[in-house]
Amino acid sequence: MKIKKINAERMGYSNKLMVFNLIRYSPGISRNEITKLTGLDKSTVTKITYELISRGLVEEGERKSSKSPGRKPIRLEAAKGIAASIIVKVGVEKTIVGLGFLNNFIEKIVEFETPKNFNTFIDKLTFEVDNIYKNSNGHNIVGISFSFPGMIDRKNLIIEYVPHFNWSDIKLKDVFLKELPYWDKPILAANEAKLALQSEIYFNEEISNLNNGVYIFVSQGIGGAILIDGKIHLGSNYTAGEFGHMSIQESGEKCFCNNQGCWETFASIDTITKIYEYSNGKLKGATYEEKFKNLLEKSEKRSTNSYEIMNQMLYYLAVGTVNLINILNPEFVIIGGYGYLFPDKYLKQIEHTIRERALKPSLKSLGKIVKSSFDIETACLTGANLRVMDEFAEKAVI
Ligand SMILES: [Zn+2]
Repeated sequence: MKIKKINAERMGYSNKLMVFNLIRYSPGISRNEITKLTGLDKSTVTKITYELISRGLVEEGERKSSKSPGRKPIRLEAAKGIAASIIVKVGVEKTIVGLGFLNNFIEKIVEFETPKNFNTFIDKLTFEVDNIYKNSNGHNIVGISFSFPGMIDRKNLIIEYVPHFNWSDIKLKDVFLKELPYWDKPILAANEAKLALQSEIYFNEEISNLNNGVYIFVSQGIGGAILIDGKIHLGSNYTAGEFGHMSIQESGEKCFCNNQGCWETFASIDTITKIYEYSNGKLKGATYEEKFKNLLEKSEKRSTNSYEIMNQMLYYLAVGTVNLINILNPEFVIIGGYGYLFPDKYLKQIEHTIRERALKPSLKSLGKIVKSSFDIETACLTGANLRVMDEFAEKAVI
């Protein structure tokens, strides 16, 4: 019967996609592990992996070292060369353009200071993208994916608002295609914190079985992303997770967003380095990251008032996180962005304050407060690449 045939085809497709995605996200997985994790028959897994290998999408790797005696299972992983994406991390200080591959490998190719003027930015960017595309040495480029430090309507590809540059209501697709009219591949764009969370969901083993969590993206401001029932919550206009503009002091300093006492005016890298420099002179370093590292070193040595300033930052980070925990009841909290630089004892300090102040039932299922497993650049670039490769995978297994 026709209906039966269609259902069987659909099931075949969804099984293939499930196996392919499992191999993409768990490089080194064996056929036996796939069988266990998917609940599919051993013969179905053998058939699907054979097909994926013969189509060049999956490769057999070296045998994984195994403690158990006997024959070691053969590792499977996504083939690197069959698909590549151009990935762009637009940062407040610099923009990085690189290549991402089907096996999640990323390569940074060029970086430049981000021009504040959008037209100058798009000129510079499309010049670099054009170069990379034309010199891609036969890499099969299947899309471009942007990470922005602001609010992005990912469906309509509109830059709603990037606060540091005051970019707003920009039709990214139109301006990009005006510069590179030959571009006929998918164009994707998203907020950096959502991409960073996407990378963690797939590659951070500490949260691999958890479905509800919060990612706090500590950078020049504070961004964020929320995982609800296994899905990143985007909101009705893709702006959910702007934690930095949660007021934690109703009559505090006025923020550029018009609210007062916003969380990021207490605990962002920008705020904390400025507070230190106000009383102690310049920190070492030309970038936010270098300055923050310098402040962390000083605080370790308890030099001048750096330790007190750092304590204040950790305290305010905890206070804001308590609000998020009470509202969202997460299983995990990731402190990311430049938060990946925190020594573990600082994470423990944040956790200590959280456990004192949050509602006890809201804390019941909360595991540790963890750092992001990626540095800030790799997190955003990996997330940007994943989006292109997810789309590629859906088409590739048909
Ligand atoms: Zn604000």
